[in-house]
Amino acid sequence: MILIADCAAVSIFDPKQNVIALVHGGWRGTVGRIIQKSISIMNEVFGCDPSDILVGVGPSIGPCCYEVKEDVISIFQKEFPQQAQHFFVPKGNERIHLDMWTALRYQILGSGIRPDHIEESGICTACHLDEFYSYRAERGKTGRFAGLLVLRSAT
Ligand SMILES: [Zn+2]
Repeated sequence: MILIADCAAVSIFDPKQNVIALVHGGWRGTVGRIIQKSISIMNEVFGCDPSDILVGVGPSIGPCCYEVKEDVISIFQKEFPQQAQHFFVPKGNERIHLDMWTALRYQILGSGIRPDHIEESGICTACHLDEFYSYRAERGKTGRFAGLLVLRSAT
């Protein structure tokens, strides 16, 4: 279980090896390639084949609401020089929004996950304060909701 309020809970499941991972997909984790690292550990330790793995991306702050500054942009540009341009959305008045969903998807696909094995909620936490907590939309004074992944024993 992880606790979040804008970051994505990324659920990773290999139904063949019966292995799960639940990853905190915030911008720091994403820029640190946490998805790729998790999937490669599943491969090395549990023999998981990425082509068998299913990935779900939970509700998180979307490109509609996630304004970032130059510090975050430059870190992404340094880590992903070829792709970073696709992770940002210009919003006018020199405002830039981070598209974490695209950044996460890029990393999931780059880990060898099949496109039809990815499910993305596409729900922005900041746009849906009636259902979710949003650290950014509520200016830090907010709760957390849980991403929970359960592995039942194979029978
Ligand atoms: Zn939004």
